[in-house]
Amino acid sequence: MATGLGNLCPHNHDHEGTGMSLRYIVKRRGTATGSCVVCRRLANKKNRGNQRKAREAKSKAQGRSDGKYQGTPCKRGHSGLRYVLDGSCVACECQRRRETAQSPQRKEYERARKRKQNLNRALEPFDEEFHPERAALFELESSRRKILKLVREKR
Ligand SMILES: [Zn+2]
Ligand SMILES: [Zn+2]
Repeated sequence: MATGLGNLCPHNHDHEGTGMSLRYIVKRRGTATGSCVVCRRLANKKNRGNQRKAREAKSKAQGRSDGKYQGTPCKRGHSGLRYVLDGSCVACECQRRRETAQSPQRKEYERARKRKQNLNRALEPFDEEFHPERAALFELESSRRKILKLVREKR
């Protein structure tokens, strides 16, 4: 929402020493005569704190101790089991997490991580037993790093 300087609010929220308060601009008239931005922010914060307390009380009354409570069904029609922390739907959260886990980006990331792990394992010290393929890989990787370093220094 657009904001602008307006009259000082009843709580004297002076905006950067201008002697005026930062207020929301009323859409219709285009003037900064809406509520004070700082007041609104404080009220929202208090409100959120109160809502959370109410959720905590609900959870307790339901005899739960898992950080969840039985609330109203969500807009997707889930049972209404919600987190005390932010009131979000447990089923929706689960679904969202599953979807991110299955997204192509996530899969590609996992593949890259595995590749790196395998390479690191191959490059671990091999003093107990001599593996020619490991030694070759180690040689290859260290010379690749040397070359990269040289290239970087040349620039
Ligand atoms: Zn204010
Ligand atoms: Zn839901």
